[in-house]
Amino acid sequence: MRQNEGVYVGIVKNNRPLVAGNWKMNGLKNAVQEIIKLQTSLQDLVSLGCDVLVCPPATLLSHFEAVVSEGQVPLLLGGQDCHMAVSGAHTGDISAQMLKDVGCEYVIVGHSERRSDHNETNEMVQAKAKAAIEAGLIPIICVGESEEERVAGQTLTVVTSQLRGSVPPESKGNEIIIAYEPVWAIGTGKVPEVKDVADVHQMIRKELASILGHGGQELRILYGGSVKADNAGTLMAIDNVDGALVGGASLRADDFTGILKVYSS
Ligand code: PEP
Repeated sequence: MRQNEGVYVGIVKNNRPLVAGNWKMNGLKNAVQEIIKLQTSLQDLVSLGCDVLVCPPATLLSHFEAVVSEGQVPLLLGGQDCHMAVSGAHTGDISAQMLKDVGCEYVIVGHSERRSDHNETNEMVQAKAKAAIEAGLIPIICVGESEEERVAGQTLTVVTSQLRGSVPPESKGNEIIIAYEPVWAIGTGKVPEVKDVADVHQMIRKELASILGHGGQELRILYGGSVKADNAGTLMAIDNVDGALVGGASLRADDFTGILKVYSS
């Protein structure tokens, strides 16, 4: 088996999967207990075949970093957004360099909640992804159609145009990650049909190959939207699904571990 391959209950994936938890605007200092619990659960899992990332609110990063750096299990940390500039007069914002400085290796950019709450455009998302790469972080670039667009049969067109606008064309495959998150599936308990996820992920793979060349084959494409322990096995087994971006079910160590178990042999 090649070093970067991951095992999903006996199925070998080309790219080592990543399961990322997006805590959104949830959690106070005592939430560090969930990270300690998660580390204990991960220690008990035999041969975990995926990387595990937690993206808490920025206020918790240094607390979590103190615990993660002392732990026995390789738990990764990420931010939920970054500014496109390195520093400057941007009250309330956080730069990619600041995230790197506090111990992050990843940052989510272009999450649908940022795109809708803060009117983020593809151009802004691309600039943030570039800033992340320059700071030595791996951006997780989110794309996905709304309910209205899905019903109108525009899923592939919308996702293609988001990819073309948001992915820095000069990046190498291992420098970025894509998360396909149908907006209507986020936090709703609704999940697309397996065939629909397979079709969109295959199209994303093809589109990335056209934007990035060979690197498009290597990069990881995550699925996000109501991933839970009871549907993770089915979703993660789909071709070109190289892991998950998890919201609600990443907040509690027990729920998150239930998802991670699909990658444990
Ligand atoms: C998300 O916010 O990225 C997400 C996928 O949320 P949930 O898992 O709660 O649907």
